[in-house]
Amino acid sequence: MSRIYNFNAGPATLPLEVLETAQAELVDYANTGMSILEASHRGKAYDAVHEEAISNIRELLGISEDYAVLLLQGGASMQFSMVPMNLLSPGKTADYTNSGSWASKAIEEAVKVGNIHIAANCGNEIPTRVPNAEELALTPGASYLHITSNETISGAQWKAFPEVDRPLVADMSSDILSRDFDMSKFGLIYAGAQKNLGPSGLTLVIVRKDLVEAAPKNLPTMLRYTTHIETNSLYNTPPCFSIYILALVTRWIKKMGKATLYKQNVDKAAQLYTAIDNSGGWYKGTAVHTCRSDMNVTFRLPTEKLESAFVAEATKAGFNGLKGHRSVGGIRASIYNAFPTQGVTDLVAFMNDFQRTNG
Ligand code: PMP
Repeated sequence: MSRIYNFNAGPATLPLEVLETAQAELVDYANTGMSILEASHRGKAYDAVHEEAISNIRELLGISEDYAVLLLQGGASMQFSMVPMNLLSPGKTADYTNSGSWASKAIEEAVKVGNIHIAANCGNEIPTRVPNAEELALTPGASYLHITSNETISGAQWKAFPEVDRPLVADMSSDILSRDFDMSKFGLIYAGAQKNLGPSGLTLVIVRKDLVEAAPKNLPTMLRYTTHIETNSLYNTPPCFSIYILALVTRWIKKMGKATLYKQNVDKAAQLYTAIDNSGGWYKGTAVHTCRSDMNVTFRLPTEKLESAFVAEATKAGFNGLKGHRSVGGIRASIYNAFPTQGVTDLVAFMNDFQRTNG
């Protein structure tokens, strides 16, 4: 077996032992004589998987009974619409921060639903960054404030969350379960699973139950949070296999110890940023220092030609997925929870070699 170092931004590297468990259990799940892929979502075997995934998430994130944990479909992109449809009361305003590509997409959908105010806009700045809490121009009485906790494309991350007097809503797609945060400060968080949680096809939503009670009664059934709260995310057929992998990934995080994992994430990112900063300006980080992402490390080389050569040689050497997002170019190393430290150390050695040969 030869596995490469996979720096893709999502779908992304999963823990090897999770893949091996899934492989071992694939044909005959827990002596049921069938695969979990074939099991009824109303049956006992699947029910235990569903409950384990939810209870592991509750335990790992310290979620109180005031919140519902929902396992939905439609990606984080669907939440760009569901959040304002359910949480933005008619006649009121919701505040949004624009920190880049993903925040803009959330805003683009929210304006179709109701009144949106941009509380801070640094979405087009280079170097990239997220807003400071001090620059937020908040609307008095707004329904909520939306932030994107980590901009996956630009590699800018909120390091401390703003303290505000209204529910905070966060798109945590690319950094959920990568670091500690206090759920009680948030009204709702959402995340597509395909980075830190498991495979695509599943979206995690954690929402304070009292916030959704006032949602307009004419919302389509599938787009109402209350539908999924009342049915424990079993209103319709859930993405069973993705939820099964989520159960395995969260079991793996519990076994690793989240504190160990979170520290490892900071150490991995620090190795890469140190290599960038020690290159005499040859490698240039694209995010402002104070908000450099621990999940998506973005940088540039002196020319686009060198960037292409870097990606080509890295791929040959077994480092996959380093090309930056097509909208911004450059290099992006996505190093989520399951990405091994050794892969980062090896990439740093490769970067030093590449500079020596081409610099
Ligand atoms: N938000 C962020 C921060 C993302 O990184 C992504 C996907 N890369 C999305 C939203 C969209 O997620 P999905 O593809 O699950 O709709």
